[in-house]
Amino acid sequence: MDAEARETLAARYREVLKGVPPEVTLVAVSKTRSVDEIKALYDLGHRAFGENYPQELREKQPQLPADIEWHFIGHLQTNKVKYIAPFVHLVHGVDSLKLLDELDHRAAQNGRVQEVLLQVHIAREDTKHGFAADEVLALAAEAWSWKNLEVRGLMGMASNTPDRAQVQHEFEALRTLFDKLASDLGPRFDTLSMGMSADAQEALAAGSTLLRVGTAIFGERHYSAG
Ligand SMILES: *Cc1c(COP(=O)(O)O)cnc(C)c1O
Repeated sequence: MDAEARETLAARYREVLKGVPPEVTLVAVSKTRSVDEIKALYDLGHRAFGENYPQELREKQPQLPADIEWHFIGHLQTNKVKYIAPFVHLVHGVDSLKLLDELDHRAAQNGRVQEVLLQVHIAREDTKHGFAADEVLALAAEAWSWKNLEVRGLMGMASNTPDRAQVQHEFEALRTLFDKLASDLGPRFDTLSMGMSADAQEALAAGSTLLRVGTAIFGERHYSAG
C-alpha cells in the first residue's frame, strides 16, 4: 500500500469511528482484503477483524500479528470448523445444532472454550441463514449443554432493502429476543452483532452492541483478481 492509500484508509476509519459509540464494538470486515491492507488498519490501532471464508482466514492469520482478535462472521460449514478452531475469537454465524456440536468437539481438541453467537433469521429474504426466534428460545430453555462453548449472544442480518423502516423493524425484533434471553442468561450473554456499512444507523438505533463494517472502512470490494 502506498502513502496515499494509507491516508485514504485512515480517513475512512476515522469517519467510521465517529459514528460508533464507545460501548459498541467495531469489527472491521476484511474478507477479500490483502494482508497489507489489514496490517495498515492494525497499525492505526485496530484489533478486531472479521472474515467470511475459513480458508482465507486460515491463510491470513499466521501472516498477521498474534494479538488480532479474529471474528468469523460468514456461514460456516461443519467440515471447515477445524481450520479456524485453534484461534478464532468469536464465531458469529452459528445456525445449526450440527455446527454447535462440531464447534464444541474442536474446541475440546484445542483445549479452548469457544465463544459463539447464534444467528437468528430476521430478514424477509429466505437466502439468509439462521435459527428461527422460537428455536433459539427452545435451545436456551435446555440451557445449552455444550461443555466447550460459551454462547455470548446473537447475530442477525436485516433484509437488503431500501425500506429503512423494514430494516429498523427487523433489528428491533432481534433486540427484543436478545433482551428476553439476556435477562435469563446473565451478564456473559452480552453481545448483539447486527449492522453493516449500509445499515449501521438502524442497528445502533435498535441497540446493537457490535457492528461488522467492511466497505465503509476499506472501500468497495473487488472480487476478481487484481
Ligand atoms: C461482508 C459482510 C459484512 C460487511 O459488509 P459491508 O457492507 O462491507 O460493511 C458484514 N457482515 C457479514 C456477515 C458480511 O458477510
